[in-house]
Amino acid sequence: MDFAGNSKKSGRSARNKKQFNRVGHNLQFYKIPPTGEISLQEFEEYAIDRLKVLKAVEVAGIRLMKGSPEYIQKLQDELRKTSLGHDLIRTDKKEDKDFRQKDLVSHFILRLAYCRSEELRRWFMQQELDLFRFRFLREGPDSRDEFLRENSLNYEPISDDLKTELDGELRAAAGSKSGVVDTIEYFKVPFTEVFDLVSKRKVYLQDGYAYVSRDDMISIVITHYRSHLSHSLAVTTRALPHLEEDGRLLPMLCGLSKRYLGQDFNAKKSNVGEITADMIETLSKKSFPLCMQQLHQSLRQNHHLRHGGRQQYGLFLKGIGVSLEEAMRFWRTEFCKAMDVDKFDKQYSYNIRHNYGKEGKRTNYTPYSCMKIITTNPPGPGDFHGCPFKHMEVDMLAQKLRGQHISKDNVEKISKCVKTGHYQIACAQYFEATHNIRNPEDSASININHPNGYFLDSYKLLNGPKEGTKPVPNTPKVIKVKVEGTGTPSSQTNKQSDLNDMDDDDLIASMETDM
Ligand code: SF4
Repeated sequence: MDFAGNSKKSGRSARNKKQFNRVGHNLQFYKIPPTGEISLQEFEEYAIDRLKVLKAVEVAGIRLMKGSPEYIQKLQDELRKTSLGHDLIRTDKKEDKDFRQKDLVSHFILRLAYCRSEELRRWFMQQELDLFRFRFLREGPDSRDEFLRENSLNYEPISDDLKTELDGELRAAAGSKSGVVDTIEYFKVPFTEVFDLVSKRKVYLQDGYAYVSRDDMISIVITHYRSHLSHSLAVTTRALPHLEEDGRLLPMLCGLSKRYLGQDFNAKKSNVGEITADMIETLSKKSFPLCMQQLHQSLRQNHHLRHGGRQQYGLFLKGIGVSLEEAMRFWRTEFCKAMDVDKFDKQYSYNIRHNYGKEGKRTNYTPYSCMKIITTNPPGPGDFHGCPFKHMEVDMLAQKLRGQHISKDNVEKISKCVKTGHYQIACAQYFEATHNIRNPEDSASININHPNGYFLDSYKLLNGPKEGTKPVPNTPKVIKVKVEGTGTPSSQTNKQSDLNDMDDDDLIASMETDM
């Protein structure tokens, strides 16, 4: 892939491959786009590696207070699970050119993928800024100074005389850290560069200037980075139409923001053993996430589910270990309470066999991830698929939760998360509430990315690991939780992602039975 976009691709020699522009520091503002060539496969690998890093940053930032020791520890643990993240927190990477180039290139690829809408841009900016802050604070004082010099952020410390003059004000602003005022340098900067410090009343202000301690310089750096990144994303958006000329890149870039990076929960890998049709009712009450409970209850009440519901629920059941024979028995028993067996066999059994790869293209379809359920195919009237935390009215959701005897405090906590758009966090809080998890350490380790992951975690918590199964590394004290970005090779992930998307013929065939 030519990042410069102006070279004669066919004539470029193999020697030039990967000759990217030199990066002089571990940290970057990513001002100069990379020029060089990488293969499409590397392009995708870099994108997924960085996406895993940003997801790790998101996971740590949503559940814990940014900057707190718990947050730093959690972020380090999460980053260590990803290949790029592992390199990011390595302390021996001085002058590691490969790492720096991968950092640069992967940032620019995701910039292309995440510039397409306001929502995506906001998410990308937030994670990149948090990642930058974390990395900047890990650098030593000399490295930070070098970075500031390289980026022309040359602020002069105020003189000793001025510092003595402002001693009382600086100590008052430093609060509990007033003891270090004598030993630390202060910088005079326009207050517009440190809005966050001003809003937290952490700086002394005089005549439009803020007096910022060296420890708080990160605020200035972040302000510059935010403004640069915001501008760059807007510029990239305008350049996006040119990419449409390359039919290979755009679909991949568009799919990145919806991509699930964790385990695929294929039925073959389910390690809770076979689940029979008779067990589903009990399990739905104990271990199903709310989305699947809703589908199950609706099926029980109406003896029918429309296509979207059958797909979401059918693949979930397959993923928890329901065999094709048991699935057929389950659906037939329920549907045939409202129709005769002939009609069921003619109109619905094809769809069930299709999900198990026995019809059409014979593809072994994988269960839907939370991201897919939340972002695609919203439910219409008469539909029961989707994610209740995303698609249900907040008042209705609260009423449903109260009906399940969830405490008032927990209902409020969940509703608050839903209102701020953190649907998976709301689901994690629902998991905590319904599994009586109170230990903050265990709470912090719950991340819901997949309905089948929810089921597996719940099943293991309630029943203990199945005999003969090996414990999974990094298992928290009480439960094992999957976190996005754990150990799925990119090529495999891509394949799984593709498998989730039916081709038109298959889709039309199954839609024909939708009533
Ligand atoms: Fe289901 Fe995921 Fe929504 Fe939870 S967050 S209800 S598991 S789609």
